[in-house]
Amino acid sequence: MSKQPEDIIRDEIRALSAYHVPDSVGLVKLDAMENPYALPAEVRAEIAQLAAAAAFNRYPDPGAAQLKARLREVLEIPPGMAVLLGNGSDEIIQMLVMAVAKPGAVVMGVEPSFVMFRMIATVCGVRFAGVPLKADFTLDAERLVAEIAEHQPALIFIAYPNNPTGSLFDAAAMARIIEAAPGLVVVDEAYHAFAGTTFMSRLQDYPNLLVMRTLSKSGLAGLRLGLLAGRDAWLAHVDKVRLPYNINVLTQLVAEQVLRHQALLAGQAAAIKAERARLFEELRRMPGVRPFPSDANFILFKTGAAEQVFNDLKRQGVLIKNLHGSHPALADCLRVTVGTPAENAKFLGVLGKALDT
Ligand code: PMP
Repeated sequence: MSKQPEDIIRDEIRALSAYHVPDSVGLVKLDAMENPYALPAEVRAEIAQLAAAAAFNRYPDPGAAQLKARLREVLEIPPGMAVLLGNGSDEIIQMLVMAVAKPGAVVMGVEPSFVMFRMIATVCGVRFAGVPLKADFTLDAERLVAEIAEHQPALIFIAYPNNPTGSLFDAAAMARIIEAAPGLVVVDEAYHAFAGTTFMSRLQDYPNLLVMRTLSKSGLAGLRLGLLAGRDAWLAHVDKVRLPYNINVLTQLVAEQVLRHQALLAGQAAAIKAERARLFEELRRMPGVRPFPSDANFILFKTGAAEQVFNDLKRQGVLIKNLHGSHPALADCLRVTVGTPAENAKFLGVLGKALDT
């Protein structure tokens, strides 16, 4: 008799639920923090030319030298700092955790935050210590410093701004945590394009700081490109965990080309920020709805019967994210990604009706 999955698959993997991506065909997609704007025709034409000439029969440049050079310039990576690329920042989180996964090692993060921090730690067999945010979703620096002293984490992840709350933590509180940490602190700046503040320029100040970015929220989610910047003394080791050729030929070519259009990307981010302000105001005026301030391209809001509202929205063709049930602090919370003005208007219209019924 051959063995069953329960005999073979690790207990902690069997206990996990898969990262759920709902079917969004035919729906206004405001669930995944994507940029709602397509690239203009002239940029698409440039990409088509590059794709036509690309050497798909060859493996990609394993070091992605040209793309890294462009990223250094556009992202203002301080001179002297090393850069590591991932197939999305998800892959970078995984590489980091694998690199520190000694027996007994602890990875720490705040909660609620990006669920992949905990999930990847669990998959790698590393204990994850989640430290609660305050009720208003700000950082509890006192508690963090105490838990750091207790758990001595090898690695701390802090999303800045945070997902799913949208909050941008106090920079002085962040600095306290970086200073108190015995190991690495990764400041995950996935939503940097909408925040206007960064720890990238602080890399020189802290030997244990690494800064992570992604192009996913800036219109290139489909390409999958994340980046980690920091001292080579750390990144040279993390790089050994990286699978060869993790950044494919098309991603290298297209990302490098699109990053030449900085004004375009900045314009799209500005449009999203303007819509965020409008959406926040409209949500604030709706009876029974409490939106939380956001420095990202989404807004978390609390409303009665969130599950029902979420399902009503979906039935009416608008997909957002239901966070009810994912963490006690997120009871009755939904998260909407900022879309185009037309998408946001549709969302608000349907939400208004769902709340009326
Ligand atoms: N970090 C944070 C805080 C996120 O919210 C996300 C995406 N939801 C990621 C990282 C992963 O992004 P990607 O893998 O697309 O780069």
